Amino acid sequence: MNIIPFLRSFTILFLSCVTIITRFDWCFSSITSSSFSLNAVGGGHFSFDETSLRNAAKDFGNRFQYQPIAVMNPESVSDIANTIKHVWLMGPTSHLTVAARGHAHSLQGQAQAPNGIVINMESLKLPGMHLHLGADSDSDSDSYSDSPYVDVSGGELWINILHETLRFGLTPRSWTDYLHLTVGGTLSNAGVSGQAFRHGPQISNVQQLEIVTGTGQVVNCSKDENGELFHSVLGGLGQFGIITRARILLEPAPTMVKWIRVLYSDFTAFTRDQEKLISSENNNAFDYIEGFVIINRTGLLNNWRSTFNPQDPIQANQFKSDGRTLFCLELAKYFNPQDIDFVNEEVEKHLSYLHYIESTLFLTEVTYVEFLDRVHVSELKLRSKGLWDVPHPWLNLFVPRSNIHKFAEVVFGNILTETSNGPVLIYPVNKSKWDNRSSVVTPDEEVFYLVGILASAVGDSSGNDGIEHIEGENRRILEYCERNNLGVKQYLPHYNTQEEWKAHFGPKWESFLQRKSVYDPLAILAPGQRIFQKAINFS
Ligand code: FAD
Repeated sequence: MNIIPFLRSFTILFLSCVTIITRFDWCFSSITSSSFSLNAVGGGHFSFDETSLRNAAKDFGNRFQYQPIAVMNPESVSDIANTIKHVWLMGPTSHLTVAARGHAHSLQGQAQAPNGIVINMESLKLPGMHLHLGADSDSDSDSYSDSPYVDVSGGELWINILHETLRFGLTPRSWTDYLHLTVGGTLSNAGVSGQAFRHGPQISNVQQLEIVTGTGQVVNCSKDENGELFHSVLGGLGQFGIITRARILLEPAPTMVKWIRVLYSDFTAFTRDQEKLISSENNNAFDYIEGFVIINRTGLLNNWRSTFNPQDPIQANQFKSDGRTLFCLELAKYFNPQDIDFVNEEVEKHLSYLHYIESTLFLTEVTYVEFLDRVHVSELKLRSKGLWDVPHPWLNLFVPRSNIHKFAEVVFGNILTETSNGPVLIYPVNKSKWDNRSSVVTPDEEVFYLVGILASAVGDSSGNDGIEHIEGENRRILEYCERNNLGVKQYLPHYNTQEEWKAHFGPKWESFLQRKSVYDPLAILAPGQRIFQKAINFS
């Protein structure tokens, strides 16, 4: 046996315990022995060094920084369960809270635990991803009878799941636009992208979960077993338990993608076409449907078409926006090379009834991985220019179909003046593909739009690209929606008071409260969402 690593880890453990005693003494009574057993049983460890604590206080939003007093790096589910059980057993005399931290791509400190414990989910190792190939290759079937699936850790990145499942010719069905996010992080919200119109969000494509609740219990759940916990956790903003394992539904993977962009200057024609494409009659026309808004008052079109080939290069080069607001419909059709003739015919057929500006048809062919991982390419470019780690005052909204025109007129016409410091996404989804029993809140209409105003604050704080200006625009948008009762709901929501949360959840608030009292009665979990405050009672 090599004694050196053993001694090293023993020393780290010993130092950790000393630190725990000095830093937790005001609230943590018997941590010394418990931390030893935690390490011995599960293999994970706590970090207390300044760098770890500082990192745990960072996120993609880059606006909120609250340090925890410890970071737990779990190696097994029992590390997480033991940590939470200790905090639970300390009862309401302790201030300690616990936040799961996925890839920390939250926008407003949602994965932070001020003076609490952050659990670094990416260090959770399950013994490999377990794949079930299934007998049912009918990918469009909503019956989960024997669909293929993969069991993954809650701390796994979606990009890794993609690569692993592709080795077996399979792929998850529903995605986010960016894949360097964890399973637990996106399932705690919803996970929405251009496939959601057909398959629903990612939370509609999960068959089973393993959860550590706010009392430290490890529970398996699905629609049929512990269904209340299953539905609570999906879209539950981390409030009811930590997702340690998820069973994700798969379908056969294509190898190639036809990726298409066309422009509209007429918002009505744009949304009419988007809605036509997600309707049940045309549901198979494309595999991915999104869109974005281009506002550029100077008339200079930026790189909306970079890397794309125009159908008619001469006409395309002459196309100018003339300062108009434009709407870009973005489509993708998956295929395998042997089916190319059929796919070309299908694409042509479906493009033929759309009403875009003819000279603006841009088309390219890329591999399936290149398509799904497309935002990572932008990330690398932005990183090389130092523009990735800037503040991101993003605003994501679900807007009911009946009010999307009013919304667009004011927001794209009057409030937003430029979209050059980040994309403005807009695309419709079908509510019937969302399970109303989950915790996520959506508008009360069969079709609603995701509008993502994804600005980066790059300039000095008060300039047009600065944080104050962008936050001001966001406030005006929210106030406008509120004043005019547009029935808009925030996605990746952020509020400051419980009254606002109550209004956000509307009729779902009572059941949200009830679920909280059952699964996390002391309000230990995900304090960074600022929905509940741990009740402290020193008596
Ligand atoms: P974190 O930020 O680490 O955590 C988010 C919340 O979930 C926190 O409250 C945390 O405590 C909780 N949590 C984390 N892990 C677990 C777990 N295992 N169990 C329980 N709770 C947990 N969203 C979309 O829907 N569609 C998109 O297309 C999309 N694109 C994005 C692109 C970029 C560049 C970025 C930065 C974000 C995007 N998002 C998108 C938003 C993203 O889905 C959420 O911010 C998500 O929470 C990030 O995942 P994460 O792993 O970084 O989670």
